Amino acid sequence: MPRRSRRAAALALLFCAVVTYSQTPILGFTPTSAAREAEIESKYKSIPSPDEERRQHHIFTAEPHVAGSARNNELARYIADEWRNEGLEDVVIRRYDVYGSNPKSTSLEMVAPVHYRAGLRELPIPGDPDSKNKKIGSAWSGMSASGEATAALVYAHSGNPEDYELLRKKGIDVKGKVVLVRYSNPYSYRGFKALTAEREGAAALLIYSDPAEDGYKKGKVDPNGPWGPEYHIQRGAITYDFMVPGDPLTPGWASIPGAKRIPVEEAVSIPKIMALPLSWHDAKPLLAQMDGPLAPDDWQGGLPFKYHLGGGRVRVHVKIEMDNSTQPYYVVEGRIGGVEAPDEWIVLGNHRDAWVFGGVDPSSGTAALMEMTRAFGKLAKEGIRPRRTLIFCSWDGEEVGLTGSTEWGEQFANELRDRAVAYINVDEATSGPDFHGQAVASLAPLLVEATRTLQDPAGKSLYEAWKESTARERAAARQSEPVTDLNLADTRIGSGSDHTVFLNFIGMPVLGLGFEGPYGVYHSAYDDFFWMNHFGDPGYRYHTLMSQLWGVLALRLANADLLPFDFAGYAANIREFVNEMAKGKDLSRLDLKPVLAAINDFEVAGKRLKESVGRSLASGTIDRKLAGTINHGMMQAERNWLNPEGIPGRPWFKHILYGARFTYAHLELPGLTEAVEKQDWAAAKQQAEILRQALDRNTQLLQELNATLR
Ligand SMILES: [Zn+2]
Repeated sequence: MPRRSRRAAALALLFCAVVTYSQTPILGFTPTSAAREAEIESKYKSIPSPDEERRQHHIFTAEPHVAGSARNNELARYIADEWRNEGLEDVVIRRYDVYGSNPKSTSLEMVAPVHYRAGLRELPIPGDPDSKNKKIGSAWSGMSASGEATAALVYAHSGNPEDYELLRKKGIDVKGKVVLVRYSNPYSYRGFKALTAEREGAAALLIYSDPAEDGYKKGKVDPNGPWGPEYHIQRGAITYDFMVPGDPLTPGWASIPGAKRIPVEEAVSIPKIMALPLSWHDAKPLLAQMDGPLAPDDWQGGLPFKYHLGGGRVRVHVKIEMDNSTQPYYVVEGRIGGVEAPDEWIVLGNHRDAWVFGGVDPSSGTAALMEMTRAFGKLAKEGIRPRRTLIFCSWDGEEVGLTGSTEWGEQFANELRDRAVAYINVDEATSGPDFHGQAVASLAPLLVEATRTLQDPAGKSLYEAWKESTARERAAARQSEPVTDLNLADTRIGSGSDHTVFLNFIGMPVLGLGFEGPYGVYHSAYDDFFWMNHFGDPGYRYHTLMSQLWGVLALRLANADLLPFDFAGYAANIREFVNEMAKGKDLSRLDLKPVLAAINDFEVAGKRLKESVGRSLASGTIDRKLAGTINHGMMQAERNWLNPEGIPGRPWFKHILYGARFTYAHLELPGLTEAVEKQDWAAAKQQAEILRQALDRNTQLLQELNATLR
């Protein structure tokens, strides 16, 4: 996917902690190891090249490669072959048999007051040879229901619950009708629009791309600029993966061949409503004919007429036939075994499947992945191997429901909970030059530090470039908060990409990396090689930088003497989460003092451990066995945030600090926050107690590690 909620996020306004950085040159390394690490990193960084990034990107974007297609499976075999040649070990292709969702036929007609048949196609654009490819599919929504309806059309703005409230006030009921909504800015996941329309009793949902959101109202459109042209269709899934991601028929376990499956009727993540995405070319004739009340000012869009809510004059016929037969998805996995701690794993992944060519999403990330594995393979052939094991994965079916990564994570959950250090996700590697880095708070200092050692193509360090673009964005969003090392990384992590299973189900610390810019062709056929070469990253320099950054982070996690987790910083971040949750609310019926006290204890334990770690590293030598004990202990800290029962109503999501709303927007302290929002004080008290206990577990863990280390 991913469309993050970051832009919509209210950034933290409260800063309570002063995090002191370790005196060692690289977090987690003794001076001697740091010197060696710097040498390895500079060798590593010299390998990825813009020409190779471009060559790989061309291979991955040559044909449409949606999940389950022959081409996408061929690319899986290609990746496996490349990895074997590069020197990766244990390269395997893992198969998952999942509930399929492919279109057999889709159609949309306006039957009154005039006849119009929607083309549901993207016409070729001048200069872009790929846009003529005959294999480009039509418009469809992943996991749409099959069916047929002829009904009146209602315009429901973004299709959020408050939009239907307004319609009700205007006397418009959507029950049995077809609802036309637009993609929203800030982004909200289309599956949430589908669920909302389904709950309202609508017969079908049409989602179109208004030129005000991602088209000519923003700037020049493809092929003259990066924004979406008249015919672009934002495909995408409407799967209710905010309830449970992955194969809908195997919630919580892997869809390996022969696995037990639940009946389709019991699958909570399968929508029961028909849905179809539209270009503005196909939405325009419908909107132009609508009668009924004038839509409010903020519901008006970029088309050259006034939008109306729909008084019954426009009637449409929607027919959708999906093929839901079981189909195989393939995850490619390869590794470079660690020489000292082979049972400590750093997992690195990107999804391979694309709605069409996947220029940005995901093939920019796939090209960066391939250059990263080539570089690690080359180092390994020269005898430079990581201390810990690196595991590389090419996911499948991310676009359908985060499917491949979820099934793989579920299959290896026990091993991962025991052995995993962290997961680093790259989905869209580059749609422009502005860096966005996400990290759980314990790894935010690692991310910030790594960017200091990398060169941005604009001529400064990536760190400087990141700070500048972040300051610009915050100014544009009228956020007065200054950019500092402590708030540079985005620590509010929602859903919408392959990190979800690792963070929310397995309890692994995660990082997410991407370079962004104006990008109006998301999930359309125009997101392709041409677009990347003209707008996204013409010189492939940001692709190269991504391979460098991704690899440097992997190397630091793989080679550190003592893992660079900052638990004091984590505590400060959790305190912010609590304060943000409490802000402006009457919490007289909920006592948060025990939680805040537990956060303080955790922070003190984190500071003490950091001091001990700093002293050990500065001393220059650390006993291997002792380091193994400390590292394994630190790896368990993230697991301690899991509640085996999950958050109320969504048992699959087990992390008590991070969750996502149905829109995919980040949701901190999900169980507690949702209980407070519902004013369910009994549940809130229970969730606060679960949080306090987890904090106590981690305080105790850090105290024990500190005692062992001292
Ligand atoms: Zn993606």
